[in-house]
Amino acid sequence: MEKIKQSKFGYFFIKEDVVCAYHSIKMSTLYFDKKYYEEVKRFICANGTIQISEKALKVINRLKELQIIVDFSFDEKAYIDSILPLLIKDPHVRVMVLHMTDICNLRCKYCFIEGNIKSDYCRKNMTEEVIEKSIDKFVQITKDKKFRKRPAIVFYGGEPLVNWSVMLHGLEYLQEKYPQFSVDKVLITNATLLNDQIAKELKKHDVGVSISIDGPEKCHDVNRVYCDGTGTFKDAVKGFDILRKAGIEPSASCVMSKETVDKAEEVIRWLVDEMHITALGFNHVSIVPSLNYYDEKYENDFADSVLKVQDIIQKDYPNVYERRMNHKINCFIDKQIIRADCTGCGEQFSVSTTGEIGICQGYMGSRKTFNNSVFDEDFDPNKDEVFIEWSRRSPFTMPECYNCPALSTCGGGCPRNADVLTGTIWNRDLPFCHFAKKAQEWLIWKQFSLNRKNLEYIG
Ligand code: SF4
Ligand code: SF4
Repeated sequence: MEKIKQSKFGYFFIKEDVVCAYHSIKMSTLYFDKKYYEEVKRFICANGTIQISEKALKVINRLKELQIIVDFSFDEKAYIDSILPLLIKDPHVRVMVLHMTDICNLRCKYCFIEGNIKSDYCRKNMTEEVIEKSIDKFVQITKDKKFRKRPAIVFYGGEPLVNWSVMLHGLEYLQEKYPQFSVDKVLITNATLLNDQIAKELKKHDVGVSISIDGPEKCHDVNRVYCDGTGTFKDAVKGFDILRKAGIEPSASCVMSKETVDKAEEVIRWLVDEMHITALGFNHVSIVPSLNYYDEKYENDFADSVLKVQDIIQKDYPNVYERRMNHKINCFIDKQIIRADCTGCGEQFSVSTTGEIGICQGYMGSRKTFNNSVFDEDFDPNKDEVFIEWSRRSPFTMPECYNCPALSTCGGGCPRNADVLTGTIWNRDLPFCHFAKKAQEWLIWKQFSLNRKNLEYIG
């Protein structure tokens, strides 16, 4: 009989009296009673040469079928090489991030754009000419292509509403010149400059709005302040009212900083109960040298808080969608590998106020990756080596991720974080790993607790 081994992609998770065997690529699970675990392990170690109970043998046979146990000669490297062509993609740009301005009326203490801007940097607003050229370039790149999600234009900053007149010009230009172009439009705003007229125009142009709000006043105002240090909470909340009066239902983008990470329950209950938000996303504070360094405790606390929030949402607010976890949950249920978590990995380009094209908005201060221009008729991300390199980045192209149970549900986090921390996008985004690994285990046990009757369980 051929020797056997536990697959490199096979894992055993144990919780109380249950074991979950999991294949990190096939995303298949087998739950069984912990009383068989020692027998199963001994059987694997002895290459199947010892006698074990009938039930333990049943577990072994299923583990073989699920390839969590494989023949000793099974070539794991050849296996992963065989699926790589399905996962390595060329750039497929469907998102354009427009930096309407480098100027912001706030001084958020954790701002990764501010933290990256050089002291001699000259701040500018995007011009009408640049926004027109950007839209032309985006249409040129995306037209006649098929996407799994609709193309999207993201209005970003600084605070984009500082340059509202040019943003409005862009919306009108898009409508007049490309009336048939099907595209989502999203404004990311601190909401403090909103007024009824702006809200009316946003509604007219069908712009989705995401408001940055970090929770109730004491959580929000700890970091999100005006230049004079006063809190922005009241004005941000007013922004929700203005949008709703115009018929727009905003989503929320919420940063859990070191100061607020232990207040996750209070924050989610306030966002849903008081602000009636049904779509939101939690973010952690980006790594910016000299501002925020990698802090293992904070990253672990952040991961725990996002998972705690998801527990609360599932129990009390089933209609609420939290972007970060819901994406993972859906992919786990559908056994859909998350190839890359960051749209910068082949799906987006960013445009600076002066029309330079780069990949990630996080480099706006340094202009790293911003090697092209909307004024270059010939620019094609599919022929640009930086875009091609970023589009290849995935845990599946990073061998140090092969030994990780979160391989298929992770997506590799933020390449810019990895670059800032280690000098290359090809290393792991360590801060994100904490979250991705905890989330993987959470998915396994949440599935078991919610769906035990329909899952395969050997008891
Ligand atoms: S590299 Fe990081 S900051 Fe840049 S787009 Fe991707 S996830 Fe966002
Ligand atoms: S959690 Fe970290 S090690 Fe695991 S797949 Fe993601 S990036 Fe790689």
